[in-house]
Amino acid sequence: MAEFALAWVLGVFGAVIGSFLNVAIYRLPREGMSVFRPLRSFCPQCERTLPWYENLPILGWLLLGGRCRGCKISIPSRYVVVEVLAALLFAFFGYRFLSQHPMAFQEGLGKSLESTIVLGTGLLLAAVCLVVTYIDLDFKIIPDEITWPGMALGLILSVAAPLIHDESWVYLKLAGNLGWERHLAALTASFAGLACGILVVLMVGWLGSLAFRKEAMGLGDVKYMGMVGALLGADGVLLVFFLGCVTGAIGGLIHRALTGERYIAFGPYLSLGVLLVLIGRREIMTFFLETWPGFVRSILLG
Ligand SMILES: [Zn+2]
Repeated sequence: MAEFALAWVLGVFGAVIGSFLNVAIYRLPREGMSVFRPLRSFCPQCERTLPWYENLPILGWLLLGGRCRGCKISIPSRYVVVEVLAALLFAFFGYRFLSQHPMAFQEGLGKSLESTIVLGTGLLLAAVCLVVTYIDLDFKIIPDEITWPGMALGLILSVAAPLIHDESWVYLKLAGNLGWERHLAALTASFAGLACGILVVLMVGWLGSLAFRKEAMGLGDVKYMGMVGALLGADGVLLVFFLGCVTGAIGGLIHRALTGERYIAFGPYLSLGVLLVLIGRREIMTFFLETWPGFVRSILLG
């Protein structure tokens, strides 16, 4: 029961956050604006300030029928899509978290706090994925305002809540097999993930530029994977990057067939990789490390 309650609460919270993410997506890449300035939302066409009820997540857009009441310009459906996605992701993570850790919030202050940080970290990463996806689609950049603080936050959260890394290979080796103090082990796992994320994108980008004689990856992608590595560990970020490359290759081919453009934004595919890993890290790992090799072996050996 409690997991349904938490899913509903986080779903509504996610819709509100989604509405804030829309503001971030619009303002972060634009000069002279910040997420909090101006404080009130406005119509980009007629600059009319929106009253509070038009600002309600999902409902506001439905209420207006997708058009600005002032100038009748149509409000892109993307605004609702971001709010709905944020609501669904938040609800899902809340539900799953509590069904996997039923006692998460009743284990004494220290452990409850750590559980809350783990849940919050998942929600934060999901939100970042949405923002990065749309900013990269619009402007072909991933803003430093997200990635630099993200890397620092990844290290800090890892020390605050080592539980974040309870699926990271480095953490399990250090804290489990070698008996390291767990906060130190988590910080090390976070650093390893950060370095691994940065290095793998730099290396693949360098190989790509040798092969295609043009820039294959941007520095934004490098810093983004540094941030993801700090939060998901080395094996986590490698899995994210692998999934991003696979889906990006497929997406790139489709994009090229439809538009003739060769360049694709990589951020949305990396973000898809992050979401997939957040949703089913263990299942995906098992598939690629056990199910798939087993399948290939059974075919080869008849
Ligand atoms: Zn307007």
